[in-house]
Amino acid sequence: MCRPSNTAKAALSTGGELAPPSSAAAASPHHQYYPRHFYFAKEGKGRGASRARSRLDPLNAKVESITSKWLKARIDDPSMVLPPSVLLSADGALVYPDRWRSLPVAFAVAACYLISLCPNIVMLVVGIVVMYFESDLYSGVVHVVLDDPKNLDRSNYLMEAIMFQGCLEFQWHHAIPRDIVIKGLLSSCADLNVVVFANMIVIAMVHGVPFVAGGDDRDDDDDRRRLLWSLLGLKLLYGYFGQLNHLMAHESEGRRPRAVRALQDNRVMLDQGRHNGHHRTYDDNYCLLGHMDWAVRLIDERCVPDLGGRRHHVWFAIWMVMSVFCLPCAVVPVVRAIAGCIYYYAE
Ligand SMILES: [Zn+2]
Ligand SMILES: [Zn+2]
Repeated sequence: MCRPSNTAKAALSTGGELAPPSSAAAASPHHQYYPRHFYFAKEGKGRGASRARSRLDPLNAKVESITSKWLKARIDDPSMVLPPSVLLSADGALVYPDRWRSLPVAFAVAACYLISLCPNIVMLVVGIVVMYFESDLYSGVVHVVLDDPKNLDRSNYLMEAIMFQGCLEFQWHHAIPRDIVIKGLLSSCADLNVVVFANMIVIAMVHGVPFVAGGDDRDDDDDRRRLLWSLLGLKLLYGYFGQLNHLMAHESEGRRPRAVRALQDNRVMLDQGRHNGHHRTYDDNYCLLGHMDWAVRLIDERCVPDLGGRRHHVWFAIWMVMSVFCLPCAVVPVVRAIAGCIYYYAE
């Protein structure tokens, strides 16, 4: 199964804190993980130098405290190799930046508008069901990529822009599992701002915008494009739903609403025990709705060659291909086919 590579194992947590550093940690050169610059830097270092006080300061303070414990331990044992996420924090990367929290609200409104473009109610209902599973699989693929410490080593601006910060936060989430609860839902949804925006731009460039002819002038292509964009709207809302699932999987028993507990018990929302499984081994249970882990395992075993230790490149390619082509080339035809069968049997 897809295992966190290199020093990630050294960073595995026990009881919510980073495990004691060990000289048995895999040997990766210290400098290997340093990107050329950080988009978000700590106070006094780079672009974050003048940043205002943030509501996420307590989380960043916890990162500081864990990082300094590791650095002190390395003074006692100079042969020790620290996890890349810790090295990057020590080098000035800000792990929990405060993102624009108004954007998820704007994106959610835009998503509702896109969903309203769906050609008809049957396709919408089918789309809601199919996208539930597609979004779950997508969350698993993204999680595999962001959990891999090798992806912290992508030393070019594009890769850093796409995933450096996400990798850093996902890998620190293993050390501080309740970070998502402390952040709150809006900040957690704001973590998706860049991915959502990039996804919409790419879909528009590759497949065209949804603002097409209406009424009698609509043809099959227009309907296909409307369906595509309505599915994209659903995917966005499911992305936010995935963040809610993840948050609730880490929330304490007494603070989870009764409705959420019922949905978790019935496996509509991510089951807490299943997600705890991910936090024990970090090599399974990646999906944030908890249904498509079998598919992630299948892809890992059957479709991802080793390529001399470069499996993370293959997983990254799978993520990119899924982002651009999964909806138009797989989900749209499936939704139309199922809707077609429903029309046929309803007549
Ligand atoms: Zn993880
Ligand atoms: Zn988690």
